[in-house]
Amino acid sequence: MPREIVYIGFGSNLDNRLDFCDRAVTLLSLLPHTQMTGVSSLYETEPLPEHSPGPGWFLNGVVRLETDLTPRSLLDVCREVEKSLGRDPDHRDGPRTLDLDILLYGTRVINEPGLIVPHPRLHLRRFVLEPLAELAPDLRHPLLNKMVRELLAQLTDRSAVRLLDPQPSSRYGSRPSCSPAATARDSA
Ligand code: AMP
Repeated sequence: MPREIVYIGFGSNLDNRLDFCDRAVTLLSLLPHTQMTGVSSLYETEPLPEHSPGPGWFLNGVVRLETDLTPRSLLDVCREVEKSLGRDPDHRDGPRTLDLDILLYGTRVINEPGLIVPHPRLHLRRFVLEPLAELAPDLRHPLLNKMVRELLAQLTDRSAVRLLDPQPSSRYGSRPSCSPAATARDSA
């Protein structure tokens, strides 16, 4: 299977959100047959009203991977990473130590039991589109045939999404990154 460019969204809304995000990014960067080629900045995001599962705001971000793993293997790995960071599989809507979503897998369109790609809510969520636009504003959604920047511009989701300030520099900031914001941050 040829190497594909994949975007994975991550989020956490428990006490030590930063640590969970940091660990998730680290674990994803260590996957076999995979290279991490981008990490967005971290964003603080307001829980959506329909399922505010925990008390606090989320931390969210997106990573870009180049991988030989199949979509299904990648999904399994995501579930393993969630589990290893303590997510309770029986209470998936409870407070989230760590949530991972496969947002895009190359230009593939997948609709199988338990796996839908592009992620069906990716184009509706500001907390996904803002970090994704940082990494890949010109990337085209293979079903909607619109660029990420266009999806962001037409978004009706008005929930608050703001850059985490200050951005962590010691651990998270050491991740590989090709986003302008993070590069500027790293060289500051
Ligand atoms: P959530 O609790 O929101 O993380 O949803 C996870 C469930 O969505 C799992 O049972 C997955 O099998 C399913 N799922 C379907 N498509 C995707 C996707 N693109 N990325 C992650 N999970 C997915």
